[in-house]
Amino acid sequence: MKKSINGILLLFLVSVLCLTEKIAGLTDTLTTTQSIKGDETIISAGGSFVLGFFSPSSSTNRYVGIWYNKIPNQTVVWVANREVPLISKSGVLEVIKPGLLVLRNDTNNTIWKSNSSTSAPNPVVQLLETGNLVVKDANQDDPGMFLWQSFDYPTDTSLPGMKLGHNFVTGLEVYLSSWKSPEDPSPGEYTHHCDSTGYPQNIVKKGSILRFRTGPWNGLGFSGVPSLQKNSIFSYEVVINSKEVYYSFKLLSSTITRYTLSPSGVGQRWTWDNQARSWIIYLSTPDDTCDSYGLCGAYGSCDTRISPICECLDKFSPKFPDKWNKGNWSNGCIRNVALDCQSGDGFKKYSGFKLPDTHNSSYNTNTSLKECRRICLKNCSCTAYSTLDISSGSGCLFWFGDLIDMKVISGAGQDIHVRMASSDSDSNGKKGKKLVISLALSLAMVLLSLGLVLLLQRRNKKRAKQKKEGMEGFNLSMAYTDERHKKDLELPLFELSRIIKATDNFSFNNKLGEGGFGPVYKGLLEEGQEVAVKRLSEHSTQGLEEFKNEAICIAKLQHRNLVKLLGCCIEGKEKILIYEYMPNKSLDFFIFDQTKRKSLDWLTRFHIIQGIARGLLYLHQDSRLRIIHRDLKASNILLDADMNPKISDFGTARSFGGNETGANTSRVVGTHGYMSPEYAVDGLFSVKSDVFSFGVLLIEIVSGKRNRGFLHHGHQFNLLGHAWKLYKEERALELVDLHLGNSYNSSEVLRSIHVGLLCVQQCPEDRPDMSSVIFMLGNEGHLPEATQPGFFMERNIVKADNSSSTQASSSKGEITMTQLEAR
Ligand code: AMP
Repeated sequence: MKKSINGILLLFLVSVLCLTEKIAGLTDTLTTTQSIKGDETIISAGGSFVLGFFSPSSSTNRYVGIWYNKIPNQTVVWVANREVPLISKSGVLEVIKPGLLVLRNDTNNTIWKSNSSTSAPNPVVQLLETGNLVVKDANQDDPGMFLWQSFDYPTDTSLPGMKLGHNFVTGLEVYLSSWKSPEDPSPGEYTHHCDSTGYPQNIVKKGSILRFRTGPWNGLGFSGVPSLQKNSIFSYEVVINSKEVYYSFKLLSSTITRYTLSPSGVGQRWTWDNQARSWIIYLSTPDDTCDSYGLCGAYGSCDTRISPICECLDKFSPKFPDKWNKGNWSNGCIRNVALDCQSGDGFKKYSGFKLPDTHNSSYNTNTSLKECRRICLKNCSCTAYSTLDISSGSGCLFWFGDLIDMKVISGAGQDIHVRMASSDSDSNGKKGKKLVISLALSLAMVLLSLGLVLLLQRRNKKRAKQKKEGMEGFNLSMAYTDERHKKDLELPLFELSRIIKATDNFSFNNKLGEGGFGPVYKGLLEEGQEVAVKRLSEHSTQGLEEFKNEAICIAKLQHRNLVKLLGCCIEGKEKILIYEYMPNKSLDFFIFDQTKRKSLDWLTRFHIIQGIARGLLYLHQDSRLRIIHRDLKASNILLDADMNPKISDFGTARSFGGNETGANTSRVVGTHGYMSPEYAVDGLFSVKSDVFSFGVLLIEIVSGKRNRGFLHHGHQFNLLGHAWKLYKEERALELVDLHLGNSYNSSEVLRSIHVGLLCVQQCPEDRPDMSSVIFMLGNEGHLPEATQPGFFMERNIVKADNSSSTQASSSKGEITMTQLEAR
């Protein structure tokens, strides 16, 4: 009997113990009567974060910290006792009256406590779903009334919603500090601040020495980190008011993300890739050598694309030429002509820069740039001004003292107006020009009046002619039956006579190439502009439909990696599209040509790959129409004079709606070797079928070989299969075009091949979208393992269907199939 009572008692005790354990694991709150110790944890209400005891890898020290609950590799985002570890397993964490969170060791001594100065009648500690640990009154949920919160005392990690900056009311500065090492969370050498000494900018310091600046906030992002801007996943903001200045980021999707400052001072932005079960770094700062603070000294500008990377701003010269020439640039540059505020200075505009250090700056809002100039000119200590908020184009940012830490940001830099002696200022140049201009103006007036008369005469003539031919402009002449399309077109019309003149009557000598549409000619317009003229041929397999499609599609798109449509011409039977002229023609002319591809070094190839990726991301995600191109290939990538890639040929592109990502068609259009399996075989096209084509193109650019028709004596695979085989055997560098010699960055090349193989994976869901492709190409960090490519054996895809296909003729090896019935 006694035995059975003992048994029941034991059972009762065990179940009570189990219950306490269970509560500790499931609740998000500790009251003053509860505590956690050993392996006990509390979990935030939605299950995202855990608070408990942990030991960093290869350390036996114990800490109280917060980590992600649903991520297998323990990723700690906050540490309480980072400087005072527990050396045994016996710590206890509890909340005590009047509102303190305390950690006691095995001798019951408090080794860490929260430092709240206010109190609450019924204090509790709660782990919020944001990862913020708060001490508050049990009945109070207003964040303004929290007694203490871990978001005010972060360690090396910033989470969405955390405010980094200064609270002028409490005097508290919230900043990140790196861990000493991956095994030691105590504060390391580096700190990350939202610096509000001048106009806000994020900075990283090593001790007291400034190492990296993001550049000032410009309304859209930080001047020196143009890629960090609001997107579909995050929004970033800097809030400036009399009570506080802070920077924070907000999640707009369910992505898990964090920013960390590594023990070596690198700022890393991470997202969790659920498929790959790993973290991916999508942005790291500093990004390049030019991000090293003040490398080129005062009035020096840094540009990694040139050698040496430092040069003085125009109208400035090295302060110590000898040192400068030896690569010691830290003393910077001085003016060629000294300022003379009394006799009147002026300003010179410098464009395309990360704006200089704003430590010594001031600002005002809602002022025009003209007004900024006037204000700066009045103050002899004001050395420069620029637009404060580039999103609205208003407000002024003023600098005082030397301008330091400027970097060239190609394509996304900002303008800054630097105070100069009047002889070096822009207005001086203008004065000289003024006389010439006034003379020219008088002459122009005479010519203009003459021109106007002629223009009016010509216009009347044209109207009469159009009336005669029964067409009142583009819409009607396009013979559109679809009313919706009519109003969609806003394209300049060119007269046929003008095109005939420009192309020397479509002379053979001016022929640039031929695509599915028909021949393309080089033309020279009267005003001296070079154009490419695409003439819809009578025998074209891409008929009027594609012509209309192309006209509607590109007229509405604008991106530096898409070819620009200047206008069209429809007269009689002629249907012509006029584009900006691309002097380097198309990519296939380079990469598949034995001689020409020697001129494509790795830097250029990588630049082209990234440009195509950006153009495609714009089509898929950011453009007004959201477009699937469906025929991405080397011959549809045009190259401008600076080898910037431009996606062309929208004859077969399809627009898709808000929530759609693709569609199904019985009319498969595309090109052998570039089409994804699900599209070629089942007619399923989506953004992921474009991603597949991009992957093929990427591998072609790296290898200098066509996927289609690729032969290898050792196996039967096509280029994709060959790349996959080398990748699996860790010999991927053997894929690289021999013409590149050793002049390439092997980690960049390996990464590109890896990304290319991720894009051509058999299963569309496994392929990354273009924003991930851009992240992965531009940032170091773990990449998911690539699975088997689609069509890696096939040399001649969908052979069985060829009977039903009608093919376009082309001067090139690649042919756009236009009427292949999908199975
Ligand atoms: P497409 O019909 O777009 O495939 O063009 C056929 C060929 O004409 C291309 O492969 C280029 O070589 C050339 N081409 C097309 N558009 C242009 C352009 N805007 N500038 C220079 N060459 C072009």
